[in-house]
Amino acid sequence: MNAKVIPFEETIRKHGIELTRKPLEILQINVGKLCNQACLHCHVEAGPKRTEIMEKRTVDRLLDLLSLSPDIHTVDLTGGAPELIPSFRYLVTECRRLGKEVIDRCNLTVLFEKGQETTAQFLRDERVRIVASLPCYSKDNVDKQRGNGVFGKSIRALNLLNELGYGKEGTGLGLDLVYNPLGAFLPPDQVELEREFKEELKNLFGIEFNRLYTITNMPIKRFLRDLERSGKLQEYMELLVSSFNVQAALGVMCLNLLSVSWDGQLYDCDFNQMLEIPIFWKKRTIWEVESLEELTRAPIAVADHCYGCTAGDGSSCSGALI
Ligand code: SF4
Ligand code: SF4
Repeated sequence: MNAKVIPFEETIRKHGIELTRKPLEILQINVGKLCNQACLHCHVEAGPKRTEIMEKRTVDRLLDLLSLSPDIHTVDLTGGAPELIPSFRYLVTECRRLGKEVIDRCNLTVLFEKGQETTAQFLRDERVRIVASLPCYSKDNVDKQRGNGVFGKSIRALNLLNELGYGKEGTGLGLDLVYNPLGAFLPPDQVELEREFKEELKNLFGIEFNRLYTITNMPIKRFLRDLERSGKLQEYMELLVSSFNVQAALGVMCLNLLSVSWDGQLYDCDFNQMLEIPIFWKKRTIWEVESLEELTRAPIAVADHCYGCTAGDGSSCSGALI
């Protein structure tokens, strides 16, 4: 990264913070880079032409490890578009059979892809929690960031999910939305924005959902290149550094989460995975470890992009940290 800032490691040391993994509770599986979209800020650089996807033997190894890890209560599936890999339904069904909560990070438009006609019903039947990206309730902003026509399809998908009971009180079918800023600034207050989204989506389209997660744009991959191109990288990094929040740093998601790539490599989080920053552990793949708990107490590998998790109210795959 070509920005001059105080190294993240130095900042947390100055505050006496040591990032060491606590007992694992969440396994985040990035099943691959194949996606029906190619969004401007995608940190995975996913797209329709990517061929890296998780094979069944890797899924099977993960299921074996999960069966030995009763404390991991949640399996968080991300990509790419997780629904597009051939083993998606098998992975979901088996995780549910093991008693895990399953999250599908769904881009919504995938539900209208060829071959995905019954995916929404499948997710409902398996009681999978859906976490869906919707950076704005206005068409122009969404289409600008995520591609032409994405907004309209996303609204149709949310209507469909509501019809199936998602996001409706009393059904237990969780539907959460993810907001990320449309430029080089921090997300606004999560509670306030959730109220605004709920009001607007209900009034404009009759849509209901449970929670809104605000997520900070990480200065990596496509967004990093965008910052470099527009000459805003130094300014954005200074914003993240000056907004460093000790409380957020004490609660970063990598403390109880482990991330696995499509080919079975282990990482501290999905961002480190995309940057290929290896874990501080002698065994670095699901084929080498005997149990995922081996990684408890391992130090987290940090770098300057971690400022994205600790700025302002903090940021994680479940939104603000404080
Ligand atoms: S839908 Fe998600 S995974 Fe696909 S390109 Fe967009 S941000 Fe990346
Ligand atoms: S970027 Fe990853 S490793 Fe760094 S603080 Fe955030 S979750 Fe932890």
